[in-house]
Amino acid sequence: MSVLVLAEKDGNQLKPSTYQAVTAASAWQLPIDLLVYGDNLDAMAAEARQLAGVRRVLLAQAGHFQHPLVEDVLELVLGIANQYTHVLSAHSVFGKSVIPGIAARLDIAPITDVIEIRTPSTYVRPSYAGNILSTIENLEPVQIITVRATAFRACSRDGEAELVTIDAPAVRGTSKWIGEQLTHSERPELNSARVVIAGGRSLGEEFNNLLDPIAERLDAAIGATRACVDAGFAANELQVGQTGTIIAPELYIAVGISGAMQHLAGIKDSKIIVAINHDPDAPIFKHADYGLVADLFTVLPELNTALQQH
Ligand SMILES: Cc1cc2nc3c(=O)[nH]c(=O)nc-3n(C[C@H](O)[C@H](O)[C@H](O)COP(=O)(O)OP(=O)(O)OC[C@H]3O[C@@H](n4cnc5c(N)ncnc54)[C@H](O)[C@@H]3O)c2cc1C
Repeated sequence: MSVLVLAEKDGNQLKPSTYQAVTAASAWQLPIDLLVYGDNLDAMAAEARQLAGVRRVLLAQAGHFQHPLVEDVLELVLGIANQYTHVLSAHSVFGKSVIPGIAARLDIAPITDVIEIRTPSTYVRPSYAGNILSTIENLEPVQIITVRATAFRACSRDGEAELVTIDAPAVRGTSKWIGEQLTHSERPELNSARVVIAGGRSLGEEFNNLLDPIAERLDAAIGATRACVDAGFAANELQVGQTGTIIAPELYIAVGISGAMQHLAGIKDSKIIVAINHDPDAPIFKHADYGLVADLFTVLPELNTALQQH
């Protein structure tokens, strides 16, 4: 019995969610192999070898993995899946694309968005925007799982896994990578930032003017509610919540955010929640560790000034 963890890359590095997926996989206390694919893997292979708890790093190198497409990764995984009793990936956009394909081809039901693994085959996962936590026993012969990365700490980097090169299947050619538009930001990534400050639609056109300087001082990522994104005040990729990014920072500051359940679904694993809202009855206060009943247009400039002085 052994576990296959699918790595995810960001340029020449592993994504933080790969570290968290390895921690999740360690719950089974079985040998863990990490599948890494790309076209120039020297740096990533060296990094992957260090992930604590990994037995072997399986390297699949091919030109078409520079920009991996779901169909090609699917073939790669299916080529080796019969060696494993467990297949696990982060519940990322990528994991959500690949895992169902693997499960369908193996005719096995996957368990997705797992936040706790109770060995050997029982899982806890949220449903109804996190209002219900279901405990599920999975009776399938192969456990195919996606995990919510933020529910697991990152594994350390003191491992020394064996490197094994494996053949990459030929490109399928059913789809083609054409290009990508990336938003470049000096700020930390929303899903791995230590501090997140997020705004609701009440910030209006002042969203960036008010939040940017504070985020800079706090080295924070910026988030937004869906209402704020829909109104065009914040970029789509900033949306936090059930249909946006799920985050678990050390500190989450919600500014002018009502606290709808779909938003809460994305923030409730935050360690400390601070809410600023002028309505003392706003639902967000029920979930906040610290609350400030105040007008955001007064408080944010004051906070900014105070931060500049420190
Ligand atoms: C299927 C579905 C999925 C959804 N997914 C998401 C999701 O992923 N993420 C998400 O965020 N939402 C999501 N929503 C939308 C969600 O239900 C709420 O509509 C949204 O979160 C509300 O955003 P808001 O808090 O910015 O706006 P509002 O609910 O309008 O709240 C504005 C808040 O600002 C306060 N305020 C106003 N002016 C000031 C001021 N001057 N100073 C201080 N406070 C002020 C008000 O008191 C109020 O509490 C989803 C909805 C559906 C139906």
